[in-house]
Parts: sequence; structure tokens; C-alpha cells
Amino acid sequence: MKPAPFDYHAPAVAEETVALLAELGDEAKVIAGGQSLVPMLALRLASFGHLVDLCHLDELPGIEHRDATVRIGATTTQATVQRSETVRSALPLLARATPLIGHFQIRNRGTIGGSLAHADAAAEYPAVALTLDAELEALSVRGRRTIPAARFFTGTWTTALAEDELLTGVVFPVWQRPCGFAVEEFARRSGDFALAGATVAVGLDADGRIDRCAIGLFGLGPTPRRAHAAETELIGSEPAEDQADDIGDLALEGLDAVPSDLHGSADYRKRVGAAMVARAWRRAVREAVHG
Ligand SMILES: Cc1cc2nc3c(=O)[nH]c(=O)nc-3n(C[C@H](O)[C@H](O)[C@H](O)COP(=O)(O)OP(=O)(O)OC[C@H]3O[C@@H](n4cnc5c(N)ncnc54)[C@H](O)[C@@H]3O)c2cc1C
Repeated sequence: MKPAPFDYHAPAVAEETVALLAELGDEAKVIAGGQSLVPMLALRLASFGHLVDLCHLDELPGIEHRDATVRIGATTTQATVQRSETVRSALPLLARATPLIGHFQIRNRGTIGGSLAHADAAAEYPAVALTLDAELEALSVRGRRTIPAARFFTGTWTTALAEDELLTGVVFPVWQRPCGFAVEEFARRSGDFALAGATVAVGLDADGRIDRCAIGLFGLGPTPRRAHAAETELIGSEPAEDQADDIGDLALEGLDAVPSDLHGSADYRKRVGAAMVARAWRRAVREAVHG
């Protein structure tokens, strides 16, 4: 099938883009890498009278290390993130999650902003943003605002962005060492969206005790989630790899709204999710303790 007809706009600056979005209202949709939007248009699961392409906006791509943060512009491709030495050294969790996204052809076109704005609950980047307490930058004709990741993902494929708002970038805090990071996921075929996945970030104090801990879950609800009860229980304890299975169980305990479909029941997903948390925990702790 082919998409329904649409008018194509390719503005040169972000301000012009948001003015167009405000003028065209819900008839307009932003297109970045097109890796999620184009299949939806081609299958006619969605149609819009106007597509506003971000590919000519010079100010949106780029990766910048600023003091204790790394800012990544929204239209930075996933392949650029994957190749970035800054990301590899300052944001190991993001670096390790990126090769798990689809296939290299998708990462060559797909953008970090597109992945965050699309907000697929089984996607890696939303879970990484939530785990690292990233902040998302939005622009509209009303001005700029910053949205914490914890408030950005509001439901299945929905975010806190207004219809006329553009995601311009994402700012990740850089954790101080000693710390460790891991992402684990299970997908039936390489390149598929994960059936269930987990991200772990763990930081140690001068005595080697856990003083910072974040456990993210994806594919396990309408949005990416944090296992706050498990995190709280771990703060102040000594990191141990042999706790991993218990932490996995605790992270999934009482989790509601876990999807159940032809790929797997909710109960199966929860068991896979607990195993992914346990695996990620072992690797993150090993890195935090041994470097
Ligand atoms: C076969 C296949 C396998 C895939 N596997 C995975 C996977 O395993 N994991 C994964 O995470 N993803 C996967 N993807 C999706 C891929 O990562 C997409 O690149 C990503 O979800 C969307 O990025 P994009 O730049 O292509 O956005 P687009 O497709 O252009 O846009 C997606 C949505 O985001 C909106 N949008 C885009 N940019 C902005 C912005 N700056 N501000 C506001 N709204 C914006 C668009 O309006 C649209 O609604 C897969 C895709 C395919 C086709």
C-alpha cells in the first residue's frame, strides 16, 4: 500500500517548524527518520494532511558533553549515537542499548528524538532515558520547556508533548565512578522489539556500598517503568551478584498492566523480565565493583 496524499514541508529552522505545527494543528505530523512513521502511513494505520520534515534543521543533531551532562540533539541518528566516543565513555548504558535497536539500516535513519517521541513501551531509548533520569527539551510557539523522563512517557505511544511541540534534545546526567551499567533483553529474533527487557545502573560510595541505583523495565507495561521498591531496598547495601535472582523477583513483584498477546502471556513476560533484571544486575555490579 501507499500512504494517503500529504503536503510536504521542509523548514530550515526550529522556530519555523513550530510555527507550522501551530498553524496546521492536528493535520500535521513531524517526520524525523521515518522508521516508525512511514510504515504506519504506508499501512494506512495513520494519515496526515501535512508532513513536516526535520531533516534540514541544522541545530537539532549533535552530541555535546557539558560538565556533568551529555546533551543529544533530537535528530541525531541512532547510528551516530552508536559511533560516538562521548556516548561510549560518558553514557555506557545508552551506548550498550543502541545496537539492540532493530537493524543497522534502521539505526542509520532512525533518530534518538524519534524513538523518544514515538514512545514504544518495548523500545530501548525510552527505558534508558527513564533509568538515567534524563530531561527532554521541548519547543513550541509558547516557548521552551524541559520535561523529566519520569513525566514524559504517559501511555502507549503517548507522551507529555503537546501536538504542536517539537522535541529538540535530551540531556543525560553523567554518573560519577565507581558505577556500573547493563541492559538485557529477550526478543524472539535478532532485531525484533524486545518481549521484555531491563536496564540497571548502580553507583557505589567510598565504602563500596550502593548509594545510587536505578532499575528500568521495558516491554512490561504501557510505558517504560522503574522498579522503585527494589531500588529503595538496595540503597545502602553491599553489592552482591548472588542477590541477582531475588532482585529480579522483587523488581517484577506486583507489576500491573503487563501486556499479554500472541508473543507471550503477562505471566511469561514477568518471568522473562525478572530474568533480564537478574542478568543486568550481575553485569552492572561486576562493572561497578571491578571496573
Ligand atoms: C523493522 C523495525 C524494527 C525496529 N526495531 C526497533 C527496536 O528493536 N527498538 C526500538 O527502539 N525501535 C525499533 N524500531 C523503531 C526505530 O527505532 C525508529 O527509528 C524510532 O522508533 C523512530 O525514530 P524515527 O527518527 O525514525 O522517527 P519517525 O518514524 O520519523 O517518527 C516517529 C514518531 O515520532 C514523532 N517525532 C519524531 N521526531 C520528533 C521530534 N523531534 N519531536 C516531536 N515528535 C517527533 C513523529 O511525529 C512520529 O509520531 C524498529 C523499526 C523497524 C522498522
